[in-house]
Amino acid sequence: MTVHCGDMCGEKASAMGEETLPSARVSPKTLSHRVIPDADRLAAASETLRMLADPTRLHILWVLTTDEADVTSLTGAVGASRTAVSQHLAKLRFTGLVQTRKVGQRVIYRIRDGHLVRLVQEAMNHADHTVTGEPPHE
Ligand SMILES: [Zn+2]
Repeated sequence: MTVHCGDMCGEKASAMGEETLPSARVSPKTLSHRVIPDADRLAAASETLRMLADPTRLHILWVLTTDEADVTSLTGAVGASRTAVSQHLAKLRFTGLVQTRKVGQRVIYRIRDGHLVRLVQEAMNHADHTVTGEPPHE
């Protein structure tokens, strides 16, 4: 059975729609901001995509789309060294793509927001078409 991205995205979108929206500029139906792609926004978006443009970082973020996690569980999930995962997490934290909280001595990482969750999921959905050769769709 093929799990299709359209089904997963629809499920996620309806779940996200129930959350409190941060401003009236965000449409509750599409979660799409009415923005003009000015220099600041283009630079910010490019920086986000630059952070996603590393397989290990993308894998870390993909794991964090489903739940928050500490460095030990992320290291196990992505199959990289703890040192490498720690360095990637520091970059992701510095650039604001992940946030942290402490539970005792443990640092727990979570992905910043729903837009980033959907961006990572859609990158992987798009990649699935590339890898499997499944025909494109809307
Ligand atoms: Zn698809």
